[in-house]
Amino acid sequence: MTGNDFEAARLTVRLGAVGANFRASRRLAAPAAVAGVVKADAYGTGMKPVARHLASIGCDTFFVARLEEGVALRPAVPDARIFVLDGAPADAVPALVSHRLTPVLNSLAEIAAWSAAARELRSELDAAIHFDTGMNRLGLPPGELATLAGERAKRLESIRVVLMMSHLAFAEDPDAKMNRVQLDRFRTGLAMLPAAPASLSSSGGIMLGRDYAFDMVRPGLGLYGGNPQPGRDNPFETAVVLTGRILQLRHVEPGESVGYGATFRAARPSVLATVGLGYTDGLMRALAGRGAGVVGGVRAPVAGRVSMDLITLDVTDVPPAQRKTGAEVEFVGDHIPLEEIAAASGTASYEILTSLSRRVPRHYET
Ligand SMILES: *Cc1c(COP(=O)(O)O)cnc(C)c1O
Repeated sequence: MTGNDFEAARLTVRLGAVGANFRASRRLAAPAAVAGVVKADAYGTGMKPVARHLASIGCDTFFVARLEEGVALRPAVPDARIFVLDGAPADAVPALVSHRLTPVLNSLAEIAAWSAAARELRSELDAAIHFDTGMNRLGLPPGELATLAGERAKRLESIRVVLMMSHLAFAEDPDAKMNRVQLDRFRTGLAMLPAAPASLSSSGGIMLGRDYAFDMVRPGLGLYGGNPQPGRDNPFETAVVLTGRILQLRHVEPGESVGYGATFRAARPSVLATVGLGYTDGLMRALAGRGAGVVGGVRAPVAGRVSMDLITLDVTDVPPAQRKTGAEVEFVGDHIPLEEIAAASGTASYEILTSLSRRVPRHYET
């Protein structure tokens, strides 16, 4: 708790649900291990509290994107393995070593830098190797993979490869042919390289079945309750609840407008509720005239534009007993899944989560 008596908006993170989603990933991917992907401040939910909770229920491996994220995470989970997806550019090597971070090496150049660092330290250094299977983003391209395979003893000198990984481009769609293509390329690549534990799947891949699980899966979105395959039932529980409070109610006559640009005009005598959440907080302006909030279990459509600090809802159809100043309005949670607000905002669940601003106080429930 922040100790404030009144908060216009809050983000409730259900750590118990994050834990349940971690266990669900384990069940779906068993016997593969599950690593927690906590990059981007655990998708906006708070990297340290989330990682500490996951560690307390047996998660011993985490992924972050940035070196700085790994450095910040290290004290929260002192004994865990922390992989850094961005890799090991030569000037990141000293910090990676001193914070005991394990880089995901994405190129022959990074492999060379890491190997050189290990030799200089006269020891072995752990690393993951990421080779590309079709994403064409990070990871060794096919030519570099072939070179590595041909000269593996020399290139991997003093490197202990603890994970071979790749990343699926289309795991959100179970029917995408690309999944099978990438699976085959991943298997071919693994056969060319020294034996090591392997990892291909993020949350979507977990839902593609056992073939895709290998030795470790890397869920992010699913841990936070997002549906990795929006066309199918979500196996994960709601873990993030975004609410705002009604700051003011107003009765308007037909023909009156609401907000900037007067884009909403009342067609009937209406009741409007102005709520303390705006685009600063992460409600996208694209929600204008499309989204909804839930007041007392009833859906109330967005009226007019989203402003910086405020959003106005048409609560005419909400029973008067429920639409009170100070009442909580849900924008994401048990009534409105992430996928729904994402669709109304013209974006993906991922961006909804990562756009939630620091201005919204986080509350952690176990
Ligand atoms: C972000 C990321 C993940 C997690 O993906 P989700 O779809 O959120 O489960 C896994 N692996 C890599 C390489 C990533 O960049």
